[in-house]
Amino acid sequence: MALQESTTPDIYQTYFEPTVYLNYFKMGQSPVGDECLNFLLKHYHSVFKSGGLKGKLLIDIGSGPSIYQLLSACECFEEIIATDYTDKNHLELEKWLKKMPGAFDWSPVVKHACELEGDRDKWAEKEERLRRTVRQVLKCDVHKEQPLEPAVLPLADCVLSSLCLEAACLTEEAFRAALRHLRTLLRPRGHLVLGGTFGSNFFMVGDKKFPCLPLKEKLVCEALLASGFTIEKLETTTRMAETLSDKDSNYTGLFVFVAQRND
Ligand code: SAH
Repeated sequence: MALQESTTPDIYQTYFEPTVYLNYFKMGQSPVGDECLNFLLKHYHSVFKSGGLKGKLLIDIGSGPSIYQLLSACECFEEIIATDYTDKNHLELEKWLKKMPGAFDWSPVVKHACELEGDRDKWAEKEERLRRTVRQVLKCDVHKEQPLEPAVLPLADCVLSSLCLEAACLTEEAFRAALRHLRTLLRPRGHLVLGGTFGSNFFMVGDKKFPCLPLKEKLVCEALLASGFTIEKLETTTRMAETLSDKDSNYTGLFVFVAQRND
């Protein structure tokens, strides 16, 4: 069934199949997946590499069944908390964290992240470090004023969210509200790292179509400023011609914002 217009987040609980979504992350098999991974890994590396952001706690919002977004961060944060809206995503993530049978093989992606750090051979070590660093997988809803309630956590040094808000928020107002909600998880002067797509109004997971909020640079900048952030860095790219024939999503570009809670 195609999901065209629904705006309720429960479409994720009902229809989002993590094992099908993970096909995007089998390197070399999905042009769109490869493009997103290459861009996001490169810029998360540059945000978190030595001398970049670091601290005690990083919270990843809307992790889905994915870990690629944490591969650089796990080198410079003592603890990571992964979160997602759906139970199936929690289970899929736990499978990888606990090395359970049938877990997704992230090793090609981990090798790529290690190559960016200068030593592809360290991939197994990095996998172990990430497994040690991710302390919990929690339920999260970015539409709630306290997205992680009932969990009570210390304020984070960094909140990361990758390819999530444009999927979870289908109106500009909901997007702005979600940024305000994420801000409450951060300590004063803590950082928000936001990776995502511009211009997309859908993405496919197998034969299921998920609606997206087509973000524009100006809208994200304005929303961050209005939500109490100072923008420190913005990396963008426009979609490569080679991926345009791929009908999995109609995004026009990709971004990584780094913003600081400004109080
Ligand atoms: N960050 C992952 C997953 C992105 S897919 C990655 O980069 O691969 C979008 C994710 O947003 C899904 O895992 C979905 O469950 C999650 N999501 C949807 N609605 C949400 C909500 N209201 N709050 C938090 N996460 C939500």
